[in-house]
Amino acid sequence: MVLKVYNTLSRKVEIFQPLGNNNVLIYVCGPTVYDYSHIGHARTYIAFDVIVRYLRYKGYDTKYIVNITNIEDKIINRAKKLNEDPKELADRYEKTFFDDMKALGLEKADAYPRVTEHIQDIIKYIQVLVDKNYAYQANGDVYFDVRKAENYGVLSRQSLGDVKAGARVEPNENKKFPADFALWKTAKPGEPSWESPWGNGRPGWHIECSVLSIKYLGPQIDIHGGGQDLIFPHHENEILQSESMTGRKPFVKYWLHTGMLNLKGEKMSKSLGNIFVIGDFLKKYDAETLRFMVLSAHYRSPINFNNRTLNQASRNLERLYITIDKLRKMIGEERPETTGQKEFTFLKSLDGYKQEFIKAMDDDFNTSLALTVLFNLARKTNLFINKNPEANKGSLEKILNLFLELGGILGLLHKVVESEELTKEIMELIKERESARAKGDWEKSDRIRAELRQKGIQLEDTQEGVKWRRLRRIKH
Ligand code: AMP
Ligand code: ZN
Repeated sequence: MVLKVYNTLSRKVEIFQPLGNNNVLIYVCGPTVYDYSHIGHARTYIAFDVIVRYLRYKGYDTKYIVNITNIEDKIINRAKKLNEDPKELADRYEKTFFDDMKALGLEKADAYPRVTEHIQDIIKYIQVLVDKNYAYQANGDVYFDVRKAENYGVLSRQSLGDVKAGARVEPNENKKFPADFALWKTAKPGEPSWESPWGNGRPGWHIECSVLSIKYLGPQIDIHGGGQDLIFPHHENEILQSESMTGRKPFVKYWLHTGMLNLKGEKMSKSLGNIFVIGDFLKKYDAETLRFMVLSAHYRSPINFNNRTLNQASRNLERLYITIDKLRKMIGEERPETTGQKEFTFLKSLDGYKQEFIKAMDDDFNTSLALTVLFNLARKTNLFINKNPEANKGSLEKILNLFLELGGILGLLHKVVESEELTKEIMELIKERESARAKGDWEKSDRIRAELRQKGIQLEDTQEGVKWRRLRRIKH
């Protein structure tokens, strides 16, 4: 089946045909590490995580690069405010970014190049632009001369006229034209800087992505991603820089952009002060719940974040886990060897679910439809289990494996393995608590109850004895 993707460049859904047959080169703009990442960032990185997972599932050899912007105005300004060294500040938030991405279950990119470790590459490429007359220097700054490039606006559909009307030249800037942008900024006293042919300074923001993408992936790549907020001017400027440097067009074959995660109709962003930091979020909610919520929407659609969408995601995810847990439990029991006719029919239908799932993902990564396929499979599995209490192990394993295979593409349903290990430990703890209770050791019994709760297990003392249930939704 053929994968189709929506390309921001053409504003159309196109057949995905990578430049190098089976190899897919992907670059996604990384974070500016000046503060904790929030769940809006998580939305974008989860979306690309699933896109990369799916490409790998389809057999493509992917090379996936995410840069780390660790020198930038925002970093310098915040460091000044906190009276901290900008490098230390950036290192600190880079670390929290990686911790967050790990906690969210993201697969690692192939490399995370840091800007400060590529200053010489950046200088080299700026020099190419200066030599080719695409860039000019003015008082230690270097600017890209947008009027020299023929293809301004290919991505954002902005014309130079629109930009001229919207932009303004700050009094301290030396630009010739409002849409020109800084490739190199002259050092201000006390700011981090590097030597260059134009004097001490540091790179502008846009140039790093052109340079790092070319350095790590080559002059032309298959997919470049980021949030829709980066289309203009960041990605527009990347195209100008890269194509002017290499003379190769297009720099990027498919531009993919994620919709924004909004709170009360406004983009979640630090500057608006309406953020949920990932670390705080994960203290209360589970990482898979966030992922599930993100994937319930198409990656290009906005997500309105609120308690209702979150709780809905949590309930729906729980529904899938209930079916999976049931399958696991049955697989662990004594089962007959033979496969009945009814079982056989259901097993034969499994491939149909898989094909539907793939069809949904092939349609510009329609994860919300793919999740619907998983729900249908869960519903049919529940019916099957109820009608076939004697189903054999092999059949049940086939069903379970399909859940795991398809869930794995979305980075979901991981906790299945964990839960089995957990079960033994939980059982021991429950037993220990019961014997403590029998001895009237209430303190110990309460301690164990709290410990289990920490592990996401809720105990209920019922008339039929102690029952436990997994708290996947909210960790207290
Ligand atoms: P930044 O560190 O602000 O440059 O953002 C890193 C990535 O996160 C970029 O691709 C942004 O487009 C994306 N991003 C930032 N805020 C949001 C949001 N509220 N929703 C979705 N993506 C976002
Ligand atoms: Zn970028």
